[in-house]
Amino acid sequence: MSSSLRKVSLLIITIIVVPVLIFSVFEIGNYRQNEKVIQDIYKNQLDAILFSINQYSDDIISNLASRIENSTNNFKPDTGNDLSKTMNEMPAFLCIVQFNNKQEILSTIPGSFSNNSIIGEMVTYLTDSAKTIKQLQTFMESGYRKIEPIGNTTKNMQWIVFLTHLNEREITNILVIDPEKFISQVLDPKIQEIAKGKFDIAAYRSGEDLPFYTAMKKSTSRKITNREPFWLFTNYLMGIELKDITIADLTKERIKRNLIIIGLMDIILLSGAWIIYRNVKKQVELAQLKNDFVSNVSHEIRTPLALITMYIETLEMGRVKDAGKIKEYYTIILNETTRLSGIVNRILNFSQIEGNKRKYFLHETNLNKVVENAALTFRYSLETKGFVYSFEPYKNLPSVLADSEAVTDAFVNLVDNAMKYSPSIKEIAVRTGRDDGYVYIEVEDHGLGISEKDQKYIFDKFYRVTETNLANKVKGSGLGLAIVKHILDAHNGKINVKSVPGSGSLFRLSFPVKQNNQL
Ligand code: ADP
Repeated sequence: MSSSLRKVSLLIITIIVVPVLIFSVFEIGNYRQNEKVIQDIYKNQLDAILFSINQYSDDIISNLASRIENSTNNFKPDTGNDLSKTMNEMPAFLCIVQFNNKQEILSTIPGSFSNNSIIGEMVTYLTDSAKTIKQLQTFMESGYRKIEPIGNTTKNMQWIVFLTHLNEREITNILVIDPEKFISQVLDPKIQEIAKGKFDIAAYRSGEDLPFYTAMKKSTSRKITNREPFWLFTNYLMGIELKDITIADLTKERIKRNLIIIGLMDIILLSGAWIIYRNVKKQVELAQLKNDFVSNVSHEIRTPLALITMYIETLEMGRVKDAGKIKEYYTIILNETTRLSGIVNRILNFSQIEGNKRKYFLHETNLNKVVENAALTFRYSLETKGFVYSFEPYKNLPSVLADSEAVTDAFVNLVDNAMKYSPSIKEIAVRTGRDDGYVYIEVEDHGLGISEKDQKYIFDKFYRVTETNLANKVKGSGLGLAIVKHILDAHNGKINVKSVPGSGSLFRLSFPVKQNNQL
């Protein structure tokens, strides 16, 4: 890895990957804690609603206490007053019994109430609960009337004790309520208003699972676990839950949603980091390839130029007299010039391709002819380098629509490579043929071969295989196969390679027989 790529990778890891991972691990680690915090928040909100219902019940009784105080101060026992009316209107209020501080009964409302056994129990209670009454007095002295439910009353009947004043004297009132009627008749409108279809609010007898009252009217199959006691009714509980979903489900759903969002965010950020890394890597590699290209090409140009200069200087000095030697020198100069113009042409071709300026002129072309004509240009070079060259033309090969000059360029490139990368077995076989709607030229050598991994990249511009020693020594620009591929693409053709490292390579250029698109 080059040092600039390493720096970029480190930067990406530091500013994207590490923070994302830390955040995710932290969030997932806090999953349980978050769940509990959210559950607590929801529970507190629900409890606040139950609190308001309790507060409302307390207000009703306080209000009643104030009215008792007002009416008893103008008490006229025989004329049914407001209070008796209220008691009649509220069937949940069974009776109020008033005592003086000697536990003597003063009055009952309604006046007709005369259940002696209950009254007897009340007197016993008052005698035994001097401490509670004392507390109520203390509250009263500080200006607050405390409403106190009495614990051990039976179901369906709740006693509530509070103090009032009658002409400066303290009166102890015991209110007897039917809790179930109170909840389902007096509290119901308030509960309905609070529930507003969003909450299940229900009332339970303690120890029972099923409610005797629900705000929804229809009995719910869900068990409400969040229950709180009624302040005023010692044997009753009320429960609350969100209507369609439990708090636990809601919390789970919320956490799940958050985890999904975190997961998606991670995927997006990490993919982004990966894409940035890939792009930078590509750019760095391309920059590296361009550097190599410049040094390779400079070398490729410098070598023939040096040879040409050397031989021309020798000839110019007139020291070589032997006609054979002079001809040999001229041949070398010609060969090196051809090589030089080949390199320059390749670079020009490539720059035309890069600028999308290369034009192709299509006409009926016979690939056998292309091979035969091109062979004339490289035959001499093949022979001097000791290559055995063979050509097997396919008989009656259909012609294709092609730019013969471009096809020649492509073919010569393949033969050039076959020569460059065949250090020991110097055999090059060229064949033409037909295959499934295509006609082809193939060039086979028994040279270095190309690994499967490199086969994927050899058609990329500037790409050169640099693993084996020889491939390193052989100079090239890395442009040849990129140009060949472009030519084939422009003809709607294909280029295939079969190669085994150490055994040789076979390149095939295929051109479609039938229609070629307009280029
Ligand atoms: P170059 O100028 O390097 O030859 P090319 O684009 O023509 O550029 O080829 C790319 C690479 O593919 C070469 O560097 C070489 O390693 C590999 N290659 C191409 N043809 C052959 C072949 N016939 N045998 C072995 N390797 C080859």
